[in-house]
Amino acid sequence: MIIIFSGPSGVGKSTIINELIKHKDLYFSISHTTREKRHNEEDGVDYFFVSENKFNELIKDDFFIEYEMYGTDYYGTGKNQITNAAITVLDVEVNGATKLLEENSEFIGIFIDIDDTELINRLLSRGHDDHFIEKRMKLAKEQRSKINRFDFVVKNVDINTTVMNILDIICNLEES
Ligand code: 5GP
Repeated sequence: MIIIFSGPSGVGKSTIINELIKHKDLYFSISHTTREKRHNEEDGVDYFFVSENKFNELIKDDFFIEYEMYGTDYYGTGKNQITNAAITVLDVEVNGATKLLEENSEFIGIFIDIDDTELINRLLSRGHDDHFIEKRMKLAKEQRSKINRFDFVVKNVDINTTVMNILDIICNLEES
């Protein structure tokens, strides 16, 4: 089973996936990206951090099942990340996610959403300025316009409830 988590940046996808992994045996697909590694991230664990040249080489080699430019950086999922693990989880922005869902009817899409005020607070707490936040809120509106392409929508009000709701969804999928 391949489950794609998507939704506006800042809704808490990574935290949710990290919590899910504590409760369920999931394989987390590790993407390639050209963006700078953050201080708390590890190469080969959070992402494979590569140069733009390397990323372009991988595109030419047909390495990716999908890739997108998001902000100023490339992000892509290697075909080798679609393993035969019982459950593989992908964290992909909305354009890449909708493409994958269109091309692979067996993939399951879960859109994680959050209230606008909460999203603004989260972006503020990450130290972003008003201009950046305004751009991200506009983007969130565009991303929400694709919500009906997803199989499930989960509102992240508090992390424990969200994780329980997603575990319920996964259990139901496993039984069906
Ligand atoms: P961040 O830079 O905050 O880690 O991620 C930015 C966005 O890139 C997030 O919305 C995340 O879901 C998305 N992303 C991460 N990996 C991939 C990928 O392989 N493909 C695509 N299309 N988006 C990705």
